[in-house]
Amino acid sequence: MSEPIHPLFVPQRLLLGPGPSQVHPRVLQAMSTPLVGHLDPVFLHIMDEVSGMLRQVFRTGNRLTLPISGTGSAGMEAAIANMVEPGDPVIVGVNGVFGQRLAETVRRCGGEAVEVSAEWGQPLNPSEVRQALSSVTRPKALVVVHAETSTGVLQPLEELSQMAHSWGALFIADTVTSLGGTPVEVDRWEIDVAYSGTQKCLSCPPGLAPITLSDRAVEALHARRAKVQSWYLDLSMIERYWGEERVYHHTAPISMCYAIHEALRLVLEEGLEARWARHRAMSDLLLGGLESLGVLPLPDEGYRLPMLNAVRVPEGVNEAAVRSTLLNEFGIEIGAGLGPLKGKVWRIGLMGESATRASVVRLLDGLMQAMAGVD
Ligand code: PLP
Repeated sequence: MSEPIHPLFVPQRLLLGPGPSQVHPRVLQAMSTPLVGHLDPVFLHIMDEVSGMLRQVFRTGNRLTLPISGTGSAGMEAAIANMVEPGDPVIVGVNGVFGQRLAETVRRCGGEAVEVSAEWGQPLNPSEVRQALSSVTRPKALVVVHAETSTGVLQPLEELSQMAHSWGALFIADTVTSLGGTPVEVDRWEIDVAYSGTQKCLSCPPGLAPITLSDRAVEALHARRAKVQSWYLDLSMIERYWGEERVYHHTAPISMCYAIHEALRLVLEEGLEARWARHRAMSDLLLGGLESLGVLPLPDEGYRLPMLNAVRVPEGVNEAAVRSTLLNEFGIEIGAGLGPLKGKVWRIGLMGESATRASVVRLLDGLMQAMAGVD
């Protein structure tokens, strides 16, 4: 006889890693709302409200604004698969894990990825991006990560967007970590495609990827020579379910739509400007406290993400042991370094509901003890 399987037991954690972040009880409660059908008029109304609130959070009037079913990577794949056709040259900024993933996604969609690299921890150099745009004939798109979660670097977007458009290219931005925590101005910065994820600054469980397309991007979608290679992520079909026609494409993840509905209500109740200011203030508080422990930020001032603080592990400190003490003895999750930054940095997330004074104080206290107790 095999052992009985017990009901779930999950310890309470304070989530201060690269995501997921803490979720407000109102969002968890919304997820336990009874199901209705995915074409029930009640649900269709909820969908419209979700799209409307996403437009406010993305700061856009774009009609095609909806949550893709899937995590942030599904948003990334939707953006690339719908905009890139076989043979298209695409300039991709690569200064961390997610830029690398974007370049790989472009190649898998048949595009020709022209990578512009920067050292991990540094932003892209606009003049190198300009050079790359001018090195190919008719670049289809310029794709960059706004908030590189693997390095804690904030990439300024406005200048790059203007550059892309002056070469007749679409401008695509990964806003998975930035949306809801720092300004993302889709219309003002003329971003053609922006996608995100729910589990970072929107403080919702992982499972949906908000996306928005400008008129120019929708035109490019409708003018494609080849069908989108992914049936599931084909926005020309998905827009007919989220738009007025209500044509069945796939069964919407109903409970996740309830969750994002409540999470977006919370974001808008707080107000975007207040939320951005809270993220910045909590990051300042954290960095001030860390400095006194000899823990300093990786990115240069002016390029630091408030919601994902990448900090250098001090010389002689066993970084994995500190993380494990934080998790097992203090119930606090923080992130490790990736790729070339493995073993060299910690990534401390202060995203959405996690960005509070109480979280910062608890983390600083735990980190001080963990660093004193292990070497
Ligand atoms: N892009 C960025 C900048 C991310 O930080 C992440 C996840 O951390 C992703 C894309 C992929 O999102 P997901 O892990 O939800 O698929």
